[in-house]
Amino acid sequence: MKDAALKPAFSLAPGERAGVLLPLPLPPYDYKLPSGVAATRGLVVSAPLGPRESLGVVWGKAEGAVGDNRLKEATPLDGNPMLPAGLCDFVDWVAQYTLTPPGLVLAMALRSRQAFEPEIPRIAYAKGESTPKRLTPARTRVLEIAADGLARSVPQLAEEANATPAVVRGLIDAGALVEVALPEFPPFAVPDPGFAPPKLDTEQDLAAHLLRSGVAAHRFAVSLLDGVTGSGKTETYFEAVAEALRQGRQALILLPEIALTVQFLERFAERFGTRPAEWHSDLSQKERRRVWRAVLSGEARVVVGARSALFLPFAALGLIIVDEEHEQAYKQEDGAVYHARDMAVVRGRIEHCPVVLASATPSLETYVNATSGRYAHLKLHSRHGAAVMPEVRLIDMREARGDPGMFLSPPLREALAVTLGAGEQAMLFLNRRGYAPLTLCAACGHKMTCPHCSAWLVEHRYRKRLVCHHCGFETVTPPACPQCGETGTLAACGPGVERVAEEFKTIFPDARVAIASSDTMHGPLETQAAIRAMAKRETDVLIGTQIVAKGHHFPQLTLVGVVDADLGGSDGDLRARERTFQMLHQVSGRAGRAEKPGLVLMQTRNPQDAVMRALASADRDAFYEQERKSREEMRAPPFGRLAAIILSGHDGDAVRAAGRDLARAAPAARGVKVWGPTPAFYSLLRGQTRERLLVQAEKLVDVQAYLRSWLASVKLAKSVRVTVDVDPVSFF
Ligand code: ADP
Ligand code: ZN
Repeated sequence: MKDAALKPAFSLAPGERAGVLLPLPLPPYDYKLPSGVAATRGLVVSAPLGPRESLGVVWGKAEGAVGDNRLKEATPLDGNPMLPAGLCDFVDWVAQYTLTPPGLVLAMALRSRQAFEPEIPRIAYAKGESTPKRLTPARTRVLEIAADGLARSVPQLAEEANATPAVVRGLIDAGALVEVALPEFPPFAVPDPGFAPPKLDTEQDLAAHLLRSGVAAHRFAVSLLDGVTGSGKTETYFEAVAEALRQGRQALILLPEIALTVQFLERFAERFGTRPAEWHSDLSQKERRRVWRAVLSGEARVVVGARSALFLPFAALGLIIVDEEHEQAYKQEDGAVYHARDMAVVRGRIEHCPVVLASATPSLETYVNATSGRYAHLKLHSRHGAAVMPEVRLIDMREARGDPGMFLSPPLREALAVTLGAGEQAMLFLNRRGYAPLTLCAACGHKMTCPHCSAWLVEHRYRKRLVCHHCGFETVTPPACPQCGETGTLAACGPGVERVAEEFKTIFPDARVAIASSDTMHGPLETQAAIRAMAKRETDVLIGTQIVAKGHHFPQLTLVGVVDADLGGSDGDLRARERTFQMLHQVSGRAGRAEKPGLVLMQTRNPQDAVMRALASADRDAFYEQERKSREEMRAPPFGRLAAIILSGHDGDAVRAAGRDLARAAPAARGVKVWGPTPAFYSLLRGQTRERLLVQAEKLVDVQAYLRSWLASVKLAKSVRVTVDVDPVSFF
């Protein structure tokens, strides 16, 4: 591999030139370094770039093309901060694997210049030695507050003592209060591995033992922690985290969704006595800077985060956990297109630390790696304690139809009545946001579609809007059909979660209902609130999209109703069946996680379908084996390789022409087939026309090398954007 040459730490003689990588889509640039500076890979510098100064990182030896007199000088930042070598190697690896310019990958790993500057201490005041000569009642009150010895800011003291800031300043001038510099950020508490360890059952204990010894060995190895929902996977991998803490190392826990973190942080604190550091897109810039620095200094010992946490500058990483490893949310689809689960394995190899993939429904790739022995396969067969796996029953919607226009069948309604009557909780699952996925004119059949995307507009009745879920376009439902002009003919077709909630409320007006859905109406905060309320039993029924399917633990939830189990099954893409199975299995797994047994009712029109049968018979591995066979026959991943090229742009003709040119230029190579161009599933997205090509290769083909030489051989119109997606998971 290309980056291998850089791997041994190199250092340059003082005054030598260096290749500096900037967080921009450029290759490393040559700079000279001030004399006396020994530059090593990872040294963070300020580098002049045109009229500006950019942050940069010394990356390797210079290429040597620029004359000495034209060479600009890059200066190390104060204190000579460095990115850890492991992170630099990781950036190179991700760049080369995903065909992303290394500078763009570096941009994900680097923070702003501020992150390297010394902390700005907060100035506060505490009680000093001397007492002022003149004591007013206000002054006395301030001194009484300060008597506890704690440092406070001027406004804080003034407010607590009910005095004016001038009174406080008078006391400072008189020397009765003295200045204290407090750190900008409070330090991260160290999680205590011995705080509240659970008593593990036999299987958990065996798995935990293997994970702990892996961590203690400081060796790269991947394990699949394969346990049924509610088997205690989290408790088990927490023991590996505890071991990393005992070893003085850091641990990274990746979660697929921010919405999952709240419950998780609390659970972590129960086990380790304090919350871990968090990393995700909802953090403020200041918080990010705090976490980033603390990860680099080693002060933050455990980080829980979304996929981007993989690019943090760990000083001494000792363990990576990827929870719910099968989740599609781990795939980043814009910017650098990468899969965080796969890249976590890469980071673990670079850092020589174990990687634990946890799931009740592993991805087929991971399943194959585990059953073939490449990964250790740690199994937890049963739920913890008295809990048993829920019973799954199919409701054949061809027979069990209720009233027309209703979405909850009579058997599901009955089960809801029984559950609510017993004072237990229920969940209704439908993977569709909004009120109705389609608005149709009853007179002419016109469908309301987005002007910028080849997609239907989804009605959101709360907001009284038709919304495009792809570009955010919004409009009000027009009074007349835009096609035929008839009034009052536009009708909502099919259900979304809002509509199911509406129907539910008409049947059970007294039940407490909450909706959890990942759209703007029910944003992350509302979703988190709904999930908390459910956990605290303040809600009887939670109605939600895929966001409720994942990871949550609601002890009193005994009934799960799947409103439309057939959704997603007809996508026809490679992973449609696997995804449907995973989603429905996960959502089923929410039922009956404590003493009371759970029941899952799935409404389907295809009860004979293999996915439905596997779910009803609780035979997961039969499903996986069947899926493995069919992938093997098709030479599909993981038995072959795929890469997609997506062309997009506002000029549709240029995009289509580029597709044809690219296809014509595809080099002939043994074991490689190129399909397309074809219009993408969303052939218009955010106003951009999209065409796709698909490369299908045999397992041992170097797909990256093939793509590189192919893309380098054609010159496409500037207006056409080329996105390469190695190992695609979605085919839209
Ligand atoms: P999973 O992640 O496999 O779905 P969890 O780790 O969420 O399962 O465990 C399910 C529930 O069982 C949680 O409430 C957890 O605290 C509890 N649990 C699991 N193992 C133990 C144990 N050994 N001792 C006490 N409680 C446990
Ligand atoms: Zn749109």
